[in-house]
Amino acid sequence: MIHYPELLKADTVNSVQSARCRFCGTQLRRTVVDLGVTPLCESFLTADQLNQMEPFYPLHVYVCEQCFLVQLEEYVSPERIFTEYAYFSSYADTWLEHCKRYADRMVERFHLTYQSQVVEVGSNDGYALQYFIEKKIPSLGIEPAINVARVAIQKGVPTRTEFFGTESAQRLVREGIQADLLYGNNVMAQVPNLNDFVAGLKILLKPDGVMTIEFPHLMQLVAGNQFDTIYHEHFSYFSFITVEKIFSTHGLNLFDVEELPTHGGSLRIYACHNDDTSKPVSALALALKQREQQAGLTELAYYAAFDEQVKETKRKLLEFLIEAKRAGKSVAGYGAPGKGNTLLNYCGIRTDFLDYTVDRNPYKQGKYLPGTHIPIYHPDKITETRPDYVLILPWNFKDEIIHQLAFIRTWGGQFVVPIPEVSVIS
Ligand SMILES: [Zn+2]
Repeated sequence: MIHYPELLKADTVNSVQSARCRFCGTQLRRTVVDLGVTPLCESFLTADQLNQMEPFYPLHVYVCEQCFLVQLEEYVSPERIFTEYAYFSSYADTWLEHCKRYADRMVERFHLTYQSQVVEVGSNDGYALQYFIEKKIPSLGIEPAINVARVAIQKGVPTRTEFFGTESAQRLVREGIQADLLYGNNVMAQVPNLNDFVAGLKILLKPDGVMTIEFPHLMQLVAGNQFDTIYHEHFSYFSFITVEKIFSTHGLNLFDVEELPTHGGSLRIYACHNDDTSKPVSALALALKQREQQAGLTELAYYAAFDEQVKETKRKLLEFLIEAKRAGKSVAGYGAPGKGNTLLNYCGIRTDFLDYTVDRNPYKQGKYLPGTHIPIYHPDKITETRPDYVLILPWNFKDEIIHQLAFIRTWGGQFVVPIPEVSVIS
């Protein structure tokens, strides 16, 4: 029997058949969820681009039967995605506080001084490194997006504009740079060549250095139904168990872990060289491994159940929007994050349901969301138009946004949060 999706994707069938796990090379055959075809979630459109053709790519997630790495195929080259990237981390207050606390804690726990070297991989606009620089600790950022790296350099954060891997790590070592603290926040998911990236981390870390890596926790993604955090820019989705396997293959040992509330539930793993015996494995790391096993993350059935769960979330959100529109209500969006674009494209929500969205990032204002062509305005638009509902797209910042927009209640406005399932907050 031939299914329509297979016909539509006929030109990609060859690549689907030959797709292999980006860590262990096993052929990818097990679907976790198929979100259809969508445009790249950060390719915002200007008004004169609206009538042009727009590239859409499959958003089909697989799990490797061998190592359980959940992953997308690489449909688009990372150079194309990341050289002009619209996401400036500095626009979210909660996230800045998170980074400041991180710097304080690392300096205290690992006794960093003005003689230490901190390196951040995927340093964005320097938002996190600035807190180490404030403390006069030598710091270096590595960031491939040219426009974003330029902002960091203007702010006085030393930044190299390049993709990180073994080649760039070896270059830094030759220049005499090795890290006492090497870290990356939400960068590992975006790495196409995972083995080269982790091997590069190993090279750049001093013999007694510490590495921390933060990434959204796959177990939370599944439990919280956060399918909208899946997009082309995120090639991989990690559990602790799989990351431990990857790092251990490259001679790195995970000795501690923290569970963080950021991005709907993240892990911060702590790694050192596997011959560094000064850092014993913490009870938290052992306990998390056990919890993942109990939750089923090392069994294929766990991944197979996700697809239906996602479809049901879509049906519930559409049901709400259809009822709201039938009742003559107006709905505006808040935010234009990558996750919003996955959600809106997968659910088929355009200006038929959502009049517009707003964003604090001036780079996005005046542009249109990819695929759905919903216009993006300055947040003042909400005060001008007084919508009945505000759909919060970056739901991971919902408390902060509800606090900022508390004034919508003066005209009876209510908040709508789409994930884990649609809910109204008045
Ligand atoms: Zn694998």
